[in-house]
Amino acid sequence: MQVYPLSKSKKLNNLCRDLSRVLNSNSFFEELSKFDGFEYSSDSDGVVDGNEVADAIKYCTIDARVILYRPWWRWSKVNGYFNASKAIDRIYINKYSFDKRDYRSCANTIMHEIIHLVDHWDKERSFSHGSNSPIGKAESAPWKIAKLVVDKFF
Ligand SMILES: [Zn+2]
Repeated sequence: MQVYPLSKSKKLNNLCRDLSRVLNSNSFFEELSKFDGFEYSSDSDGVVDGNEVADAIKYCTIDARVILYRPWWRWSKVNGYFNASKAIDRIYINKYSFDKRDYRSCANTIMHEIIHLVDHWDKERSFSHGSNSPIGKAESAPWKIAKLVVDKFF
C-alpha cells in the first residue's frame, strides 16, 4: 500500500513518501513479524500477531490518503483520526498540532491511523485498541507498530 498526501505541505509530502517506503520494505515486515499477539486483537484462532498484520498490510487494496484539517475547536487534543463511515481511505490529521509537532511525532500519528485503516479493511481479523484512552494500550497493534516504525525507520 501507498500513502498519499491530500493537503499541500512539504512536511506531509515527505512523511507520506517515507511511510510508503517503510510500508513496502522487507526490513519493516521482518521487524513486524517478531511481535507475538497484540493486545486488544482477535481473529478466528485467538490473537493477531505481527506476521498476520504484515500480511494484512501487504494485501491491503486501499492506499491511504492523508488530509490536514482544522478542528472547530482550536485547542482540540485530537492529533488525528480514521473514520470508516466517512471514508475508508482517509486519514485526518489535526493541522494545528501537526504544525507544532516534530517529524517523528507526526509520523507516529499517521502510522497509528494507517493501522486502523488496515484493521478496518481486514474483515478476518481485528487489531485495534478499544477505547480512545492511550493508557495501557502500548501493546495494541496501532500503538506498538507506530512506535516500531518511528524507532527503527525515522
Ligand atoms: Zn487509535
